[in-house]
Amino acid sequence: MKDIQFKNTDNLSVEEIGKVIEELRQVIEYHSDRYYNKDAPEIEDYEYDALLHKLIDLEEKYPMFYSDTSPTVRVGGVAQNTFAQVEHTVQMGSLQDVFSFDELREFDNRVRQVVEKPLYIVEPKIDGLSVSLVYKDGALVQGSTRGNGFVGEDVTENIRTIKTVPLKLKEKLPFVEVRGEVYMSPVNFKKLVEEQELNEEQPAKNPRNAAAGSLRQKNPKITAKRNLDIFVFNIQQIEGAEITGHKQSLDYLKSIGFTVSPSYFVTDNIENVIGEIQKIGDNRGDYNFGIDGAVVKVDSLSDREKLGSTAKYPKWAVAYKYPPEEKETKLLDISVQVGRTGAITPTAVFEPIQLAGTTVSRAVLHNQDFIDEKNISIGDIIVVRKAGDIIPEVVKVAQHIQNGECYKLPDVCPSCGAKLVKDEEQSVIRCINSACPAQCVRSLIHFCSRNAMDIEGMGEAVCLQLSEKGLVKNFADIYSLTFEDLLELEGFAKKKAENLINAINKSKEKDLSNLIYGLGIREVGEKAAKLLSKKFKSLDSIRTATKEQIMEIDGFGEVMAEFTVEYFNDASNNEICDKLIAQNLNTSSAEENTSELFAGMTFVLTGTLPTLSRKDASDIIEKNGGKTSSSVSKKTTYVLAGEEAGSKLDKANALGVKVITEEEFLQMLK
Ligand code: NAD
Repeated sequence: MKDIQFKNTDNLSVEEIGKVIEELRQVIEYHSDRYYNKDAPEIEDYEYDALLHKLIDLEEKYPMFYSDTSPTVRVGGVAQNTFAQVEHTVQMGSLQDVFSFDELREFDNRVRQVVEKPLYIVEPKIDGLSVSLVYKDGALVQGSTRGNGFVGEDVTENIRTIKTVPLKLKEKLPFVEVRGEVYMSPVNFKKLVEEQELNEEQPAKNPRNAAAGSLRQKNPKITAKRNLDIFVFNIQQIEGAEITGHKQSLDYLKSIGFTVSPSYFVTDNIENVIGEIQKIGDNRGDYNFGIDGAVVKVDSLSDREKLGSTAKYPKWAVAYKYPPEEKETKLLDISVQVGRTGAITPTAVFEPIQLAGTTVSRAVLHNQDFIDEKNISIGDIIVVRKAGDIIPEVVKVAQHIQNGECYKLPDVCPSCGAKLVKDEEQSVIRCINSACPAQCVRSLIHFCSRNAMDIEGMGEAVCLQLSEKGLVKNFADIYSLTFEDLLELEGFAKKKAENLINAINKSKEKDLSNLIYGLGIREVGEKAAKLLSKKFKSLDSIRTATKEQIMEIDGFGEVMAEFTVEYFNDASNNEICDKLIAQNLNTSSAEENTSELFAGMTFVLTGTLPTLSRKDASDIIEKNGGKTSSSVSKKTTYVLAGEEAGSKLDKANALGVKVITEEEFLQMLK
C-alpha cells in the first residue's frame, strides 16, 4: 500500500467526499499499524503527516463524517499480546503538530484567550518512543510503552537494561510516574545498520523504529545490546513533592537522578519561542540524539489545567516539525560494491553537501529497479536527503543531463569479472564466484565481526590490506598469520601487531555458534547458527548433516537448510573447515562439554600453564561445574599451578591445599 496520491477534492459531491475520507482513514490506519505496531514504516513521516492533515482538513470542513474511531482522534498504536498489558492511570496523549511559524502564533493566540500571561518552555522533540516509568519508594517497578495512550505494553525488563534509566532514585519518594522518550543515538543507530548490512539483514529504517523494535524484544539481552537511551520529560503523577511548573519539574527530575532534555528554554514571548526553535533546528546535526521537531509547552501546571485537552492532544502544547532537509547536488558516479554473499549494491557518488550537520557524498541506490524508477543517469542533478536524519538517500532527479541514459548495472562482477546472476524474487544481482576477491574481503570482515569471532583490530581496513597483500585468502589463513606478517601492514608497529595476534588466538575459544555464524552461510544468521550448534554439537556433525536432519530443527526452514547443505557440499569450504579444526579452533558446542565433574570444587589458578591460557582453564572448570577464585583459602579444593607461581603457591602449601599441574588437571578430565 504505497500509493498515497489523493485526488483534488474541490469539485467532489458530499457523498464522494465521504468516500475519500473513508479511503484516507484506511490508508492512514494501514501506515499507523506499520509504524507503531510493526516498527516497519513504508512511507516517510512527512508523507504520513500530509495524509493525516488532509484528513483533519476534510473532517473539519465536513463534520457530518465525524467518527470517534477516526485516526484523527486516536493516539498511536495498540498494545501487542507479546507483552502483558498495562493500563495507564494518566493518559499518554500525543502532541498537535504545527509546520509553520504562523501556526505557532495562532497557538499563542489560542492560549492567550484562556491565560493572560503565559510562560512557554521550548525543548527539542526527541525522535524515539514514549514510555512511562513507575517508581515506588524510590525504586523502579514498572516500565511500559504508550500503546494507544490508555493501554500500553509491560516492557519493564527491557527498560531495566537502559543505562540512563535510574533503577533507584536519589530520593526515596513514595510514588512517582514519569514519562520519557526512549531513543537510539545516531552513533548506535549507524552501528546497528552497519551490522545489519554486514549480515545482509533488512536494515532498520530510522532510529525511531530501531529504538521501538529494540525495546519490544522478547529477550532483554538483545535490548541491552542495542544501547538505548532515555530522556525523561514529564511527571505524570507524584506523591511526596510539590510541583507547580514544568521547568521546576525538569530541574527536580534531574536532581533525583533522571536524564532530562539537555536544553529547555523559558520565555513569555512567542517570537523568542520561534527564535529558539530555529536555533534547535540549525544545530540538530550536533545533538547526540535524533530530533524530529521542537515542543512548545505552557510552563504553569495550573494554566495547563485551565487550557485542558482534546481526546488526543493537550491544548497547552504543540510540536513544531522541521521539514526534512533536502539538497541538490551533481551525481558524479555510481560505484558498485560486492557484498559477502555476492550481492551487488550500487552507490551514488555525488559532489559533497552538508546535510543535517554532516558532509555527505554517497547514498545507496539499492538495485536496478530503484534506479529505473527514478531514471537516474550519471551527471544528473539529484535531490538528496537524510532519511530519519541519518542515512542519506536519493529522493529524485531534479535535472536530467542532456542525452543521458538511465544507468544500467554491469553484467559482470566488478571485482572478478564473473557473469552476474539475477535473484528473481529479491531483485538482487549476485556474483556467484565463490573465489571472488571482493566477496572474500567482505566475508573476512564478517568472520572477524563482533557477533562472529570478535577479533578486535581486524576491521575493514586491515582485512582489505591482508587480502590485497595475499596474506589472507580465507578464514583459515587468519590463524597462520605471524607477527612479522602483521608488521608489513600499514600503520602496524610492535604493540598493535601483538594485540592482533592475541585477539586472533583468543578467538579460537569462541563458541561453535560464533564460528558457524562467522562462516557466513547464506540465510544463517546468529540465531540459526545457535540452533545448528545446539542440535549437532560439533562442526563435523553439522557439515555431514542432511537437509532432512537440519529441517528437524524448530525454526529452520527449507531454504536455510538447503543453503547450509550447499555450503558444506563445496569442496573449498570443507577444506577451510579442515584447516580451522587443525588450527585448534573450538569446533564443538560448549554444551557438549558440560559435566558435573568439578561440582562443589573451587580452583585457584597461579603461574603460567604450559598450554592452557587462564581463560581456557577457567572455562573448562566452569563448564564442568566448578568455580574459580582469585585467592587461596581453606575452602580451595585445588591450586592449579604453572611456572613462576608466586605467593598463592606458598599459601596453598601453608594451608595444606592440594596443588596440581596442568597435566594432572587434564588427566582429571579424562
Ligand atoms: P509525535 O511523536 O509527533 O508527538 C508525541 C510524542 O512526542 C510523545 O509521545 C512524546 O513521547 C514525544 N516527545 C519527544 N520529545 C518530547 C518532549 N520534549 N516533550 C514532549 N513530548 C516529547 O506523535 P505520535 O502520535 O507519537 O507520532 C506521530 C509521528 O509519527 C509523526 O511524526 C508521524 O509522521 C509519525 N508516523 C509516521 C508514520 C509513517 O508511516 N511514516 C506512521 C504513523 C506515524
